Amino acid sequence: MGGTIKDPMGEVRDLSGSCTIEQLKAAVVAVKAARASQLHCAMHTTCTEPVTHIDSKGYAYCTGHGVARRVWCPCRKLRPHELRKLQRGETIKQY
Ligand SMILES: [Zn+2]
Repeated sequence: MGGTIKDPMGEVRDLSGSCTIEQLKAAVVAVKAARASQLHCAMHTTCTEPVTHIDSKGYAYCTGHGVARRVWCPCRKLRPHELRKLQRGETIKQY
């Protein structure tokens, strides 16, 4: 008699308890949306910090890199309505 074999359905239930398929799908959609957006820190392609700054050339940066950028290029904090515009894929005409 096989009393030592684990119940495969029990394993599946344990996994779904920690992270549901719906949660995974939502995470994938969020990642795709972030990649589709032009709004990412221009300092490093690997930078995942949210964009908060823009320099006089029109490049967007996160807070840390925006402050660093300021050393050699005018860089200011984005206003909330400008950030929304960028998030919609529109550009800001003036620095
Ligand atoms: Zn950055």
